[in-house]
Amino acid sequence: MDTPAATPLPADDPQRHRIVIVGGGAGGLELAARLGRRLPPGGPVELLLIDAALTHVWKPQLHELAAGTLGGPDQETDYLQQARRHGFRFHLGRVESMDRAARRLWLAPLVDDQGHTVAPRRAVAYDTVVIAVGSVVNDFGTPGVREHAVALDTAEDARRFHRRLLATWARNELQHGGAGATAPVNVAIVGGGATGVELAAELMESTAAMAGFLPHMSRAEGGEGDRGARLPVRIHLLEAGERLLSALPADVAEQARADLVRRGVVVRTGVKVTAVTDTQVMLGDEAVPADLTVWAAGIRGPELLKQLDGLALSRSGQLLVGPTLQTTLDPRVLAIGDCASCPQPPGQSTVPPRAQAAHQQAQLLAEALPGFVRGEPLPAFRYDDRGSLVSLGRRHAVGQVHTPAPGPQSGRGWRLEGLLARWAYWGLQRQHMVTLHGLPRTALATLGGWLTARTMPPVKLH
Ligand SMILES: Cc1cc2nc3c(=O)[nH]c(=O)nc-3n(C[C@H](O)[C@H](O)[C@H](O)COP(=O)(O)OP(=O)(O)OC[C@H]3O[C@@H](n4cnc5c(N)ncnc54)[C@H](O)[C@@H]3O)c2cc1C
Repeated sequence: MDTPAATPLPADDPQRHRIVIVGGGAGGLELAARLGRRLPPGGPVELLLIDAALTHVWKPQLHELAAGTLGGPDQETDYLQQARRHGFRFHLGRVESMDRAARRLWLAPLVDDQGHTVAPRRAVAYDTVVIAVGSVVNDFGTPGVREHAVALDTAEDARRFHRRLLATWARNELQHGGAGATAPVNVAIVGGGATGVELAAELMESTAAMAGFLPHMSRAEGGEGDRGARLPVRIHLLEAGERLLSALPADVAEQARADLVRRGVVVRTGVKVTAVTDTQVMLGDEAVPADLTVWAAGIRGPELLKQLDGLALSRSGQLLVGPTLQTTLDPRVLAIGDCASCPQPPGQSTVPPRAQAAHQQAQLLAEALPGFVRGEPLPAFRYDDRGSLVSLGRRHAVGQVHTPAPGPQSGRGWRLEGLLARWAYWGLQRQHMVTLHGLPRTALATLGGWLTARTMPPVKLH
């Protein structure tokens, strides 16, 4: 199949079992950090993490990055620093295919900003590989989405959205010549799941803060009685289903809807987007104005998964794995997180694509992989649904949390809302940081971030 194009990666000690993790996201980086700490330096196992980027941003915070409210220590984590701290190696590159017979992963050439090739196409050997490359949004083939809509798949997507928001504002201001009020920026968010709801709420808050720095924005034109129209941004949240947040109880979803409407978001459910253009979102014959469109309507497996030497995929393009997280056709290839379609006990759907699932799978493999390398079987993964919290800006969240499950069923559920829910949501973000940085560093970084925030604008203005 693949022919070697250039030097394979060095430091390939044939005496050591090489575990390669592809993707340093919510699941992959936690696995690398936890496993790296467990493996003795220079021992029989070598651990390598590969990611297409040099830094990690926790994906559940991408809506904050897009809205310009993510700052301080939360923004980015260096893979190289993590590698040194936790005792694994890091390799920058995008995996593009796999040769299972030769146990090789193939990486695309690494090209810099000027288009110069920094590293050629190259191969990385593995004995065990864990695929943790996440997911991408599913556009269901809707015309115009690829060309005109932004997806929040990566940190770069979120930054691009933020830059376009500021550029659209600047354009509106120039078009009005500074005289009178400036038209609000029209944003259409397609998909009323957690991503769409959290982004809508965060944008309403962040753009209100931005408007304080851009005088014409806070006087945007609008019709009488239309609160959203007087704000610097007009958001349409469009959902095909009958209600928002279909994965959460109906009363939680209703609370989130009422909160968004109160803030001025136009929430429409039961509407199907048929096309996206550069200025509009089409609902059949009806056009919704959209200077910017965010597509957040469901996920699917990334294209890479089709290039993994024939490994079986689910209907949504995720890798089919068994209860032990090993792919169904190759026990040396495992998958965790959004890219894995993992079964649950009969009568339940597959493990949901959530950060908490990726976290629990990483925890399990960090414990079990040292034994697996010695020839022991892997234990079965059991997802413990600890509930869901949906952030509605800086001071509010809604959701349900579950106590730990005593048996195969989820534990008891508790409704949370308001500031308490927001603190619980913040606590979940800190847990991820504690895994990567340890408690003392996380506490210091949080304090440092809090102090830095006193001297900075509350929202990113560039
Ligand atoms: C705005 C938003 C809010 C969310 N909120 C929540 C929430 O509140 N709670 C919750 O549980 N979940 C939430 N989620 C879902 C959650 O983010 C994902 O379920 C989780 O990040 C999946 O983790 P992962 O490790 O599978 O993939 P990711 O975290 O997406 O990481 C994938 C990694 O793989 C790398 N990669 C991809 N392709 C390649 C390649 N070819 N070669 C090398 N590296 C590659 C990427 O650079 C990335 O680092 C949210 C998602 C979004 C977008």
